[in-house]
Amino acid sequence: MTARSVGLVVAIMLVATACATTTSQPSPDETSLLGTLAPLVTTTTSPTTTTSTTTTSTTTTTIVPIGVPEPTVLGVPAEPAVDSQFAGVGMATVPAGGAPIFSQGGTEQLVVAREGLVFAVTATLDDGWLELVTMCDTTAWARAGDLVLNGPSQNQAVGKSFNFAKAVVVLDPGHGGPWNIGAVAETGLREKEINVDIARRARDLFLAPHTVDWETGTIYTGDQVPAAQRVIVTRTGADELADYEAGLLFRAELANAMKADAFVAIHNNAGHENKLETPGSDVYYQSQIEDSRRFATIMVEEFNRSFAPFGTDWVGVQDVGAKSRLSTKNPGKQYYGVLKRTEMPAVIAEGAFMSNRSEADLLATPEFRQAYAEALYRAVVRFLTDDAFGDAPSFDPKSWGGFAGSGDARPTCVIPSQDGQ
Ligand SMILES: [Zn+2]
Repeated sequence: MTARSVGLVVAIMLVATACATTTSQPSPDETSLLGTLAPLVTTTTSPTTTTSTTTTSTTTTTIVPIGVPEPTVLGVPAEPAVDSQFAGVGMATVPAGGAPIFSQGGTEQLVVAREGLVFAVTATLDDGWLELVTMCDTTAWARAGDLVLNGPSQNQAVGKSFNFAKAVVVLDPGHGGPWNIGAVAETGLREKEINVDIARRARDLFLAPHTVDWETGTIYTGDQVPAAQRVIVTRTGADELADYEAGLLFRAELANAMKADAFVAIHNNAGHENKLETPGSDVYYQSQIEDSRRFATIMVEEFNRSFAPFGTDWVGVQDVGAKSRLSTKNPGKQYYGVLKRTEMPAVIAEGAFMSNRSEADLLATPEFRQAYAEALYRAVVRFLTDDAFGDAPSFDPKSWGGFAGSGDARPTCVIPSQDGQ
């Protein structure tokens, strides 16, 4: 903890002596984002000439670790709009003042949806109507002119040529609402709230450019990795905890409609079996999308890098690492509903164990939740901009007969309304 704290508050000063040639930072199109740190923060300047002699000037570049900022409270869009990438399907965001949502066919107004909420747009219909999938896993209609509409990713090939400035990333904080709380620690800490805080910290990382020291994992202000084009948090909105029900069908349909480049379901675990010397983070991958397994191995490695410095009494279950569960009811299909339905590389992250008091106490701290978010950030950047596997164990898919709850929205699910109902 001591070494880590020092690392977070001390700015690194890099002083470069000028030389005859000027180096400039390569653009993301020209080089891998995973290069070493030093060349990317060393700035040199051209010589300056005086009347009698040629001297060199010195430029100082300061990079600062980002530390543990509070998650940003994003405002809501002021008014309806459509982006140039929207071509019939994508995402709808409710602007300030709310937006009416109708039954299929447009015959009945169901609710004025709360500003800041997002919906999947699955079709554009005649007469200005849109077909939506709501957080209640239902199909509804809305007027295109009432919403902010964004179109899908252009889906570049993953690898060293990937331009991260065009990445579309979905962050999916698990659980939510009165009936789906997720794991609860003995201290009363609730998973549905922790997951949203982590998602918002990760969202803030993706929405700004950063420089990463890939040797240590430290994230700095800087511009080595550009801001992603779009980061979608599935459970979101103007209220601080976005504490409403959201079904697994909706979460997957939103990511599919946006053709996201990567999808991360954010969870914390319960029901540990063993004491461990190192963090017991599990990441589940899709068996039907090959690159998902590579994504999971990177994320497990990054969790270890983020969490190990906190040094506590870790716990885990069998086969700690990247793994995949198949349904016993539907042979060959994914056990987890969100991994079954998402059509892009997707993982479920189970970062820490709420059922272990020492890990629950860590999850209660902003420092640990920030470390969780940083692991997600580094994992997504590495996954999209390189083609290497992570340095973590991975296990072949196994049939799983356990019961995690269906994750589908209940019949009593309601779309949060602008008037707070
Ligand atoms: Zn969970």
